[in-house]
Amino acid sequence: MPRMFVPGPVDVDDQVLQAQAAPMLPHRSKEFEAIFRRASEKSQQLFYTDHRVFLMASSGTGLQEAAIRNFVNKRMLSVVNGAFADRWHDVAVSNGKEVEKLSFEWDMPASPERIADTVRKGGYEAVTVVHNETSTGMQNPVKEIADAVRAAAPDTLIFVDAVSSLAGAKIEMDAWGLDMVLTSSQKCLALPPGLALGAVNDRAMKKAESVENRGWYFDLLRMEKHRNKDSSPATPAMSLIFALDLQLDRILAEGLENRFARHSAMAKRVQDWAEAHDLSMYAPEGYRSQTVTTIKNERGIKISDLNIFLKQRGMRIAGGYGPIKESTFRIAHMGETQMEDIEELLTAMEEFLKKS
Ligand SMILES: *Cc1c(COP(=O)(O)O)cnc(C)c1O
Repeated sequence: MPRMFVPGPVDVDDQVLQAQAAPMLPHRSKEFEAIFRRASEKSQQLFYTDHRVFLMASSGTGLQEAAIRNFVNKRMLSVVNGAFADRWHDVAVSNGKEVEKLSFEWDMPASPERIADTVRKGGYEAVTVVHNETSTGMQNPVKEIADAVRAAAPDTLIFVDAVSSLAGAKIEMDAWGLDMVLTSSQKCLALPPGLALGAVNDRAMKKAESVENRGWYFDLLRMEKHRNKDSSPATPAMSLIFALDLQLDRILAEGLENRFARHSAMAKRVQDWAEAHDLSMYAPEGYRSQTVTTIKNERGIKISDLNIFLKQRGMRIAGGYGPIKESTFRIAHMGETQMEDIEELLTAMEEFLKKS
């Protein structure tokens, strides 16, 4: 029974937790290589890609860094309208890149036109965009952004952080022309934290050949050589790969379209509930996340007290994040969470609101 209505780490199914208890194998064995390969191949379906998917022993931020280190020599653009987009910008700065920040108000979606106007000036090797801003509950129009970037600057690579949406919302990497899409295990995939998945197309891999100082651990050209042999340069997070292998079967058995519809129905239910209780969403209509809802705390609800109340019932929600920490709260509806769980949460919240 999912109880963690927080945007990661989320609850993990018991069977999937148990899969991690499988005995270790030598990581350079045929048995493990077969599991590594099939997990990576099944993952391609989540990204809607025919390109490779790297399975990294790191959290998602590791692949934010990998994108910068592998595919950018010098100059790039970061689109920022939330805390995680801002982190990606910081990652680029920390890696010594000349990174320009294109900021939008946090309660506004990133504008494809303004991004196009910027990249049209030329010289940007890549642009980073967050698909689903976990801080604001905003879903940026990534397909439209990618279309606009390709039209304005065809050589600029497009990197997308889908950490809190992949496997909960449809992101068609190949059809949308995205060069790299990355995610973490502990959000919509409903796995324990510690694994990052990154899909990369051939155009980006080609670019990497001309990039110096790609580092070692996150050097995707080195990873690729090993991946072609169903392996990785360093020891993989084997227990998490066992869990991923099983979880992908469960996700594909549910059906991706069914899974997206379930997430979207839960999002709508939470939004309707909030509106019915004189609370409005932080993100504007049409751009709201289907995996996490950020609600403006217009009623001054004491979130810490609410969480104490919810915890007695085994549940918890999330406060705000970053600069909107105090003024918002968040309800995640991702991974294993079902509509019945949401109903139970909302009933409990209603009880709390009546009492206070
Ligand atoms: C959680 C999150 C991250 C950070 O992921 P880690 O796995 O903690 O490194 C990055 N981007 C978004 C959108 C997130 O929700």
